[in-house]
Amino acid sequence: MEQFPQFKPEMKKTHTLLMPQMCAYHFRMIRNLLVRQGYKVELLETTGPQIAQEGLKYVHNDTCYPALLVIGQMIDALKSGKYDPDHTALIITQTGGGCRASNYIYLLRHALKSAGFGQVPVASINFSGLEKGSGFSMTPKMMLQLISAVYYGDLLMLLRNQTAPYETDPGRSDSLCDKWVERLSVQLAGMRGLFPGGMKKNFEDMAADFAAVPVCRVPRVKVGVVGEIYVKYAPLGNNGLQKFLESEGCEVCMPGLLGFLLYCVCNGWIDVELYGGSRGKALGMRALTDLLCRQEEKMHGIARQHGFWAPSPFLHTKALGEKIIGQGSKMGEGWLLPAEMMELCDSGFLNIVCAQPFGCLPNHIVGKGMVSKIRKIYPDSNIVAVDYDPGATKVNQENRIKLMLAVAREKLEQQLSPAADPQPEEPLREPSAASSM
Ligand code: SF4
Repeated sequence: MEQFPQFKPEMKKTHTLLMPQMCAYHFRMIRNLLVRQGYKVELLETTGPQIAQEGLKYVHNDTCYPALLVIGQMIDALKSGKYDPDHTALIITQTGGGCRASNYIYLLRHALKSAGFGQVPVASINFSGLEKGSGFSMTPKMMLQLISAVYYGDLLMLLRNQTAPYETDPGRSDSLCDKWVERLSVQLAGMRGLFPGGMKKNFEDMAADFAAVPVCRVPRVKVGVVGEIYVKYAPLGNNGLQKFLESEGCEVCMPGLLGFLLYCVCNGWIDVELYGGSRGKALGMRALTDLLCRQEEKMHGIARQHGFWAPSPFLHTKALGEKIIGQGSKMGEGWLLPAEMMELCDSGFLNIVCAQPFGCLPNHIVGKGMVSKIRKIYPDSNIVAVDYDPGATKVNQENRIKLMLAVAREKLEQQLSPAADPQPEEPLREPSAASSM
């Protein structure tokens, strides 16, 4: 078997770790946590067409687009001359799915070798026990910190997305996000804000901060975004989808990363129900599901108390998905993707962009493949499946989305017309004393 350099614990002091960005707030907190543990970490936030081209040089062109981008971005960084390859290591997050998601690290190692960076070690962050000998071990403490970062990142995303498009002082919500990312990183590194009491206090303070931002709630088209995990969240993967939708005057709703975590945990007991296996493991996974869901409900409940919309409980989303897809479907985003689309429609987010990467058969089946079933249940749903691949132009993707938005605007105007039920415009909201900005 071919040998590749491993990331060794002593490299913590000598190497800079390069980590690709995916979810803005979550990954910034993870980076900060690693830095506080003594690692030198840089989040790669580079964009541009050269990244996909770099990826195409070193991985087969039928490889999934997220792998192509992540590998291209890392090689692009190494070639930039900014980093000493003898003192640089790469770190990637792995979901450990049954499709090609477990192979990214091998693809990356081969690509590094072909690009002349064979000496660069690769470490993996994952919850599924992959790459145990990589020198980067996932301790229970780290797991707790990462799970907490998922809750906090999701709440920041939820609050920011409902505030930023309406704020009267542009940039206020983004500054609040920056402030909270820093504050939470310090807390998590110090083992604070990890348990229910500390989390509740943070959730309340965060929601109060965002509720205090002055806003003018003019009617806007609301758009849900779902898809394969990387192209859904990463601006590099979806050509800045969120920014584009906001520039078109929309409010964006991105279901959180916690949903994906819960989907992975639920699959642990669904597998036993469907195919047999250890009852003990199934019971443990069910208990973990309940624990994570209880905290999710608390977080959403606090957001609602402060006047924000929050998604329905995860198990309700799961049940909605069961109406159209079997729970044994778990390659890629599996049953979660159609369940999230159902939940968005159920919550009134009828306009949806389903972001799908090139080369991702599972998500084409559970994404685009489910749209007609969803339309039968929600005839007013307005869903566009957009493919992201190195050959597709941004203009082409945005034109497809603009067509969906044209329909959405027409519907919004109909709802707002005098013949429809009156929709009073919300007055300017003044900041409350609760603001800690
Ligand atoms: S989910 Fe799709 S894009 Fe992601 S690894 Fe699997 S096949 Fe590739």
